[in-house]
Amino acid sequence: MTKQDKKREYSELELWQNGIVKTVSFIVTEACQLRCRYCYFVEKKEHQVMDFKVAKKTVDYLLTHKDIFKEDSVIWEFIGGEPFLQIDLIDKISDYIKYRMYEEDHPWFNSYRFSFTTNGLLYHDERVQKYINKNRTHIDIGITIDGTKEKHDQQRIFPNGKGSYDLVVKNIPLWLEQFPDAATKATFASDDLPLLKESIVHLWSLGIKNIMANLVFEDVWKEGDDKIFEDQLYELADYILENDMQDEYFCSFFAKSAGLPMDIETNNQNWCGPGIMLSVDKDGNFYPCTRFVNHSLKNKVARTIGNINTGIDQNKLRPFLTLDRYTQSIEDCINCSVASGCYWCVAENYDSADTNTIYQRGLFNCKMHKARIKANKYFFEKLNKKNKDWKVAQYKGAEIC
Ligand code: SF4
Ligand code: SF4
Repeated sequence: MTKQDKKREYSELELWQNGIVKTVSFIVTEACQLRCRYCYFVEKKEHQVMDFKVAKKTVDYLLTHKDIFKEDSVIWEFIGGEPFLQIDLIDKISDYIKYRMYEEDHPWFNSYRFSFTTNGLLYHDERVQKYINKNRTHIDIGITIDGTKEKHDQQRIFPNGKGSYDLVVKNIPLWLEQFPDAATKATFASDDLPLLKESIVHLWSLGIKNIMANLVFEDVWKEGDDKIFEDQLYELADYILENDMQDEYFCSFFAKSAGLPMDIETNNQNWCGPGIMLSVDKDGNFYPCTRFVNHSLKNKVARTIGNINTGIDQNKLRPFLTLDRYTQSIEDCINCSVASGCYWCVAENYDSADTNTIYQRGLFNCKMHKARIKANKYFFEKLNKKNKDWKVAQYKGAEIC
């Protein structure tokens, strides 16, 4: 068994219950040190912090309603804003979760993770490190770093406009020492597309082998962006193959399963899980996912699905449980010859739809997906010619959206 096989096997273990888990997201704070240009937060209210009593009530509700929350496993996610700004609160909530799962003799006690996506600025902080060490075997942490200093600092900036790259990159070695198989999320929008190839290569050079790369879901694309994107991916494909990196370095833009037609009879799933996921805000309101909270919506009102006092409102939840590819897609998408891997964000669709529907699939990324698929095909054809017995690195961790 090669080192890579071991990694892959470990990673598959990390996929954990084949991804069939309950994800519960506590929006512990709306504050963040950064003002990233692509951030979906409409406004940041620095004073909005979750009260411990709200978190407690949420945990109690979830753990005493096994009839509603039937999944065998749970991911307790802490999000913001920047979650590590509230590390003391998170530590208190985590202790309470563990204590209550044990007290209830809940199946989740043996099958839980604490999950974080952080801007990385406080990663070295003593209290954060203490928390990590305390919960080490149950933690997943993704630090978001976008690529080269130029690319990162174009988007991930402080309120005074200064880039955050230098402060984040300092914490990468410690993070990778603690979580060698960790992934980072790299997001690309129109302006930074020309920096795509060098950004992915740069992240790999920092030792981050798993890159969950994605495009923003919003309607930001300019004429010609699809061509820039495609060319960047050709360059990246050549770089990977010329340097024989395909079996160890992962970038989610290249996927064997992407770009195929999809049979609606056998594959009709929504690609993400609003409604199966549950987010709770500082007031104890439940949402199908974090992007349905008021501060994440530019044009529409929040969509709650209950609260800590009255529980889940099944009538409000039901529309989310009926989301699938068929109910959201136009005919062109259902019959599309390259449909697989063409993703959408239900919350963004809701925010940009003509009415209050959650079923109007946005088509902003159509051209971009088709460009990706051309490069994807190029990569795998070239790889096949190079080596018939190729193995491509697979990241099997939690999906990051
Ligand atoms: S958005 Fe475009 S590429 Fe995606 S499935 Fe629909 S038609 Fe195909
Ligand atoms: S893709 Fe959008 S709707 Fe789906 S889980 Fe992520 S933020 Fe929510």
